[in-house]
Amino acid sequence: MAIDRAERCRQWNADQQHQRRAGQSRAKQFTSASQAAAGACSWLAFMARFRAATGSPQHFPHAAARYVPPEQIRTLTGTLPAPLQQIIHTVWSHGVGWGVDHWLLPPDMPPAPPDGSLFAADQEPHEWSDFAPGWLVCQTCWLAGICPTCQPDWWEDAILARLPQSLCGAHGGRVIDG
Ligand SMILES: [Zn+2]
Ligand SMILES: [Zn+2]
Repeated sequence: MAIDRAERCRQWNADQQHQRRAGQSRAKQFTSASQAAAGACSWLAFMARFRAATGSPQHFPHAAARYVPPEQIRTLTGTLPAPLQQIIHTVWSHGVGWGVDHWLLPPDMPPAPPDGSLFAADQEPHEWSDFAPGWLVCQTCWLAGICPTCQPDWWEDAILARLPQSLCGAHGGRVIDG
């Protein structure tokens, strides 16, 4: 089963470290079952990296968080800002395997107006907290947002223009402590 496989990989990784500490003689005790587990783990890592490199959702988010460094998370057409990579990686480590599309509006859709504006009345308010300078993350839905005052050139950036906007704490935004 899916979960069992990720769990077995964790066990195998722990076992690997144990074997390394215990020295070469212990290595003989490696069984074919253990080697099969190692193969499954490298397959899991390969698939996680492949999916990360294409912005796809992760089937085994915990494993993806373990095997894929944040900087390898990208879209088919390009890289992502580092804070957004960090946010996605954090969400995977919480067991949620959303792909990059969860965070990006379609390219031709303008971002929602900032929380608190007249036009946002019928929208679910996000619970923004400051994540990195100019970056916010919603504590309930994990969406990433940008502070337009921190990043005034957002409209020139293909990725930033597809993210919701809200003022960060430093610019008077109503943010909650993360
Ligand atoms: Zn939200
Ligand atoms: Zn700001």
